[in-house]
Amino acid sequence: MENLLKEAYNPEHFRTLGYELIDVLTTYLKDAQQGTIPVVQWTTPSEQLRFWEDYTLDSNAPTTLFKDIIARSMHVHHPKYMGHQIAPTVPLAALSGLVSALLNNGAAIYEMGSSSTAIEKLVIQSLTQKAGYGKNSDGFMTSGGTLANLTALLAARKVMAPSDVWEEGHRESLGVMVSSEAHYCIDRALRIMGFGSKGIVKVPVGASFKMNTELLNTHYEHARKNGIRIIAVVGSAPSTSTGMYDDLEAIARFCAEKNLWFHVDGAHGGAAVFSSKYKHLLRGMEHADSIVIDGHKMLMTPSIMTFLLFKEQHHSYSAFSQKAQYLLEKSEQEEWYNLAHRTFECTKHMMSIKYYVLLKYYGEAIFDQFVTRLYDLGRQFAAKVKQHKHLELALDPESNIVCFRYIRSGLSVAALNARNSAIRNTILEKGAFYIVQTTLQDQVYLRVTLMNPETSPEVIDELLTTVEAIGGGEATADSSL
Ligand SMILES: *Cc1c(COP(=O)(O)O)cnc(C)c1O
Repeated sequence: MENLLKEAYNPEHFRTLGYELIDVLTTYLKDAQQGTIPVVQWTTPSEQLRFWEDYTLDSNAPTTLFKDIIARSMHVHHPKYMGHQIAPTVPLAALSGLVSALLNNGAAIYEMGSSSTAIEKLVIQSLTQKAGYGKNSDGFMTSGGTLANLTALLAARKVMAPSDVWEEGHRESLGVMVSSEAHYCIDRALRIMGFGSKGIVKVPVGASFKMNTELLNTHYEHARKNGIRIIAVVGSAPSTSTGMYDDLEAIARFCAEKNLWFHVDGAHGGAAVFSSKYKHLLRGMEHADSIVIDGHKMLMTPSIMTFLLFKEQHHSYSAFSQKAQYLLEKSEQEEWYNLAHRTFECTKHMMSIKYYVLLKYYGEAIFDQFVTRLYDLGRQFAAKVKQHKHLELALDPESNIVCFRYIRSGLSVAALNARNSAIRNTILEKGAFYIVQTTLQDQVYLRVTLMNPETSPEVIDELLTTVEAIGGGEATADSSL
């Protein structure tokens, strides 16, 4: 064998590097968790590009490459990480990622991932049970909430459209109703599916940023008059910008009355099924025909892995079946172990093991503790915002997503918006905290997602004081480092 290949596959080399890397990652994890490094070392995209273009690697020290990657990345295990909805991975789940990466079992067909395929069936069963589904439910895992929502909507179309779109293309104008606050991937999925703008019926939200379900019928009738056949309604649990849960019971009732597919996008907050304190937010979800729940957001696993659940087992075969469902051979339907029948992906990583290892080692209690702690933290954050004269809450949060902003009397809307954007940029560039921003009804808000159970009340106080100080021009974010 050629030398390079021999060296690359040498198990002893793997052992040496592996131990070194685990040491590097352990030191990193401690630093991040204790906040002794900035949450992010901000660099512009072009600076970052230049760094990696000019990079030379000392062949004696390959782990320095990993060290450099770590130093130039976002630190989600940092208590001041409060930005996008991504979990600080449980280290044990990260180790299972290493196992998946080395085994590289593709899991499209049974032989190429026999253990992860069987485990997938078991974890799906445990989730369908949690979601309140009956025995006849099923599902599978796929690569992210975006793809899972597309897959669910494809299944909905296969089941609900009057003609066979998969075979014949669109004969009717079809439509799906969704809140104006839904994640953009729903809009994107429907466009990919050929629904066009007119087939995406956006139902406005009320003051609480939840879908105004009283308007469902008006929008439904309006679409019908315009020749659009509504096939489904999507509920957000919660929507991404504000973290507010749609009234799933009301949507379920409407869908039952009109015979529509009911889909719940619970990518972020479907995980609340594990929280005895907060699962009431999902009331009505058990009536959904399909449900999406991300593992890499509120179930603490590495990216990306998503559960797609179906109330009726045979619907889990609907999205990509070439034949109409009633023509599917029984044997085809029962091939639960050849997952590529049901997933968009052919090859996928061994998603199920990353979740299963947490379930087996820590039990379901870990998910309850995680979701409950973070949702509690959202409420604590909001209560603290109310104590600051120059801060304003967008609305009382239901989850771990909180929107707030700096205010000062006498400033125009445009000036306030610019001020809040500037605050967020200053904080990012200083690496003091990681928070993001969102626009709600033309007003710019600062947005936090409390993803880290290590984020303490003191850290929240520090952030709010920093925001107020930067907003008032009294300090820079330096003082908070
Ligand atoms: C994050 C999110 C998505 C997208 O999920 P990915 O896993 O990032 O593809 C979809 N819907 C909602 C409500 C989300 O919060």
